[in-house]
Amino acid sequence: MNAPSTPAPSTPIPSTPDVLVIGGGPAGATAATCLAMAGRDVVLLEKAAHPRFHIGESLLPRNLDILERLGVLDEVRRIGVH
Ligand SMILES: Cc1cc2nc3c(=O)[nH]c(=O)nc-3n(C[C@H](O)[C@H](O)[C@H](O)COP(=O)(O)OP(=O)(O)OC[C@H]3O[C@@H](n4cnc5c(N)ncnc54)[C@H](O)[C@@H]3O)c2cc1C
Repeated sequence: MNAPSTPAPSTPIPSTPDVLVIGGGPAGATAATCLAMAGRDVVLLEKAAHPRFHIGESLLPRNLDILERLGVLDEVRRIGVH
């Protein structure tokens, strides 16, 4: 069975970004978002097609500040994770 393909990005990918982040897990996605919010030109490469199945059930309270800084806390609350 073939892996699902990731749709083409809707905006052109810069060929000379300030930062190249490899891996779009929590660490890579957070780093890339913070850098982009700070005005850096960031390209994030993720090998897996998203959305993907991922096991996880606990959201440590310490992460709430980070989610708020990233601007996604309301969305996390909306989907009932917290
Ligand atoms: C079964 C399980 C359950 C868990 N449950 C919880 C939980 O409930 N709560 C919690 O807080 N934590 C949980 N964790 C821990 C949590 O998943 C990790 O702490 C977190 O995913 C680490 O984030 P990361 O970004 O460092 O790495 P990852 O999440 O591993 O992300 C790395 C990313 O890099 C990508 N990648 C790898 N190589 C390449 C490449 N060559 N090119 C492009 N992309 C690449 C991968 O596809 C992946 O998306 C769980 C872990 C496991 C295994």
